[in-house]
Amino acid sequence: MNRRKFLTASAAAPALAGMEALAAPAAKTTLTTSIQRLNLQHTWTTTMSSSAFRDTLQVAYAHGGITGHGEGAPIVRYHEDAVAARKAVESVRELLLAADPMQFGKLMAEVFRKVPGDWAGKAAIDIAVMDWVGQKLGIPLYSYFGLDPKDTPLTTFSIGIDTPEITKQKTAEAADFPILKVKVGLATDEATIEAVRSVTKKPLRVDANEGWKDKEEAVRKINWLEKMGVEFIEQPMPAEMIEETRWIRSRVHIPIIADEACQRASDIPKLKEAFDGVNVKLDKSGGILEAYRMIQIAKALGMKTMLGCMVSSSVSVTAAAHLSPLVDFADLDGNLLISNDPFHGVLVKQGKLILPKGAGLGLTPA
Ligand code: MG
Repeated sequence: MNRRKFLTASAAAPALAGMEALAAPAAKTTLTTSIQRLNLQHTWTTTMSSSAFRDTLQVAYAHGGITGHGEGAPIVRYHEDAVAARKAVESVRELLLAADPMQFGKLMAEVFRKVPGDWAGKAAIDIAVMDWVGQKLGIPLYSYFGLDPKDTPLTTFSIGIDTPEITKQKTAEAADFPILKVKVGLATDEATIEAVRSVTKKPLRVDANEGWKDKEEAVRKINWLEKMGVEFIEQPMPAEMIEETRWIRSRVHIPIIADEACQRASDIPKLKEAFDGVNVKLDKSGGILEAYRMIQIAKALGMKTMLGCMVSSSVSVTAAAHLSPLVDFADLDGNLLISNDPFHGVLVKQGKLILPKGAGLGLTPA
């Protein structure tokens, strides 16, 4: 073929491809965003807020006849809400509709460049895209990351701050969970732990949610908690008090885990001297891909790793659970606290996370 004929033939090829596309039109690419009100079984109280429901952002991304589901649970602590998260996702609608989802690394890097905050909104996109990718490949997400679903850790069940009587009742209701996570950080800490201990001898993990402001008091409380059978303490001091936390760490025995102080991968190196580990959440990191990077960085620095979640449906909790074979500790109970979960996904049996075997997230409608 001479040069002229070659050019003519090349020019015809896209036209032929276009005709084939006309003959068998690909399913339309769509993006649906909605705000879902999730009702809590108990009013949920921590040092930060108290509420009877939580609004999360649900995202459905359909491309080539496959629909990926995502969710973001905006964190009040970081001044995020569901309305802003939805706006953030809508701001990249055209990008998402035009993208090749198999180029998800490139796509999410572009989303991160275009959306500066709204981490839960970005998480909703990332989860929907990764659910799509897993379904396209026909494998569960844990297989995509090369993980063994048998390696999932036990998850804790969280007991929010309440009166001693209700705390006892909640502890009794959590009979199926071998490890409990108890929220403290108010003046009632000792009464709360004693209420839990009056009902159970199980190992406890404690989360102060930045509630203690005085480092000497924090040391006293942590050493008391150790005697009460507490395995570790999460975020005892305000996030910015890294130096005070390092001081505390040199005076206590149980591990200190960073939560509010550790939002993203770039936060981890500066926390190494003050904390023994980090609590990674998809709503802080902006999704599964960044959470995976955070876990790897923390491990490389010799730190313990934990996966946590916000109050959310099975979409977000199942997404995090697919990474859980990588981590030391899991606190993935956000979907168990609500009464109107729209999906079935990860299950919990005697505290053990049971990953669904379906492709992608493996979700089924409730
Ligand atoms: Mg926490």
